[in-house]
Amino acid sequence: SKDFDDDNDPGRVRVSVRVRPRNGEELISDADFSDLVELQPEIKRLKLRKNNWNSESYRFDEVFTDTASQKRVYEGVAKPVVEGVLNGYNGTIMAYGQTGTGKTYTVGKIGKDDAAERGIMVRALEDILVNASSASVSVEISYLQLYMETIQDLLAPEKNNISINEDAKTGEVSVPGATVVHIQDLDHFLQVLQVGETNRHAANTKMNTESSRSHAILTVHVRRAMNEKAETGTKSLGDKGIPKVRKSKLLIVDLAGSERINKSGTDGHLIEEAKFINLSLTSLGKCINALAEGSSHIPTRDSKLTRLLRDSFGGSARTSLIITIGPSARYHAETTSTIMFGQRAM
Ligand code: ADP
Ligand code: MG
Repeated sequence: SKDFDDDNDPGRVRVSVRVRPRNGEELISDADFSDLVELQPEIKRLKLRKNNWNSESYRFDEVFTDTASQKRVYEGVAKPVVEGVLNGYNGTIMAYGQTGTGKTYTVGKIGKDDAAERGIMVRALEDILVNASSASVSVEISYLQLYMETIQDLLAPEKNNISINEDAKTGEVSVPGATVVHIQDLDHFLQVLQVGETNRHAANTKMNTESSRSHAILTVHVRRAMNEKAETGTKSLGDKGIPKVRKSKLLIVDLAGSERINKSGTDGHLIEEAKFINLSLTSLGKCINALAEGSSHIPTRDSKLTRLLRDSFGGSARTSLIITIGPSARYHAETTSTIMFGQRAM
């Protein structure tokens, strides 16, 4: 398989697919037993049934069946990006798919009672913290929700309209208003993530929305004081005699559900919402396509989601996308559109 390190094309997006196990309802409804997709993980291919006679086969970087463990998914999807972040490169890991297909399970699962259930956010922090146990590395996080082009702080819900700052010189993206928590150890991170999850639920109950309509964005800042010995022949002091620090960041994004929202309601709110959600996902799709085509212009200005991703996306940054699909034939249209989104990223 192609690895980021032996890849001549560093801006390339790594794309994986995961199918969720059938749920109770799907197990009961026999009519859905005909499989919509057939996974061939050994050859990293997915066959999608088009109709009773034809199917089309697609290649991915990794293909995860409904029995793939959270650990395997982490190693295939996230670990290469986390390693890049530990080596000073920014990175982004995103989950894209229809609501109910396992995005939050894959990236956000806390797994309080069962560590085997832990998702990508927890495992990434675990890896980063192990590496940071040497005192020269600091790990800080912020956790935001983006809903209808408004950024809310999941660690301080009263901050409900946070703005994005882009440094004109360095191109560095920051969110100065966001709460930043210095993470000491994994238990501390689990607590903070739980606070975020509780606030996300409360915010959406208050706004009468669902978390499936918003994007959740965890940012992990890793700062490493440069070791002079490691820097052969160069001094690790900056211009002003301040020790040099190597900074990188990792964004882990649980995207809003990709399903089309019913726009026909007389409720204006729903129509506005549909427009905005489509704006950020559509704009993300455009950026991913531009990256895949090797374009020098990535159109990140169009939405807040892509503005946040700007410096963690393309260039020297590593990007990994996991698309999640359900097993049921009844979601043929949504599953097809999710697979196409993933294919356009490759
Ligand atoms: P989404 O975030 O895409 O809306 P969820 O992550 O909430 O979907 O998943 C929907 C349901 O399916 C949840 O109850 C979740 O625990 C379960 N689920 C999803 N993926 C898996 C999986 N790979 N193994 C076991 N349960 C899963
Ligand atoms: Mg979810």
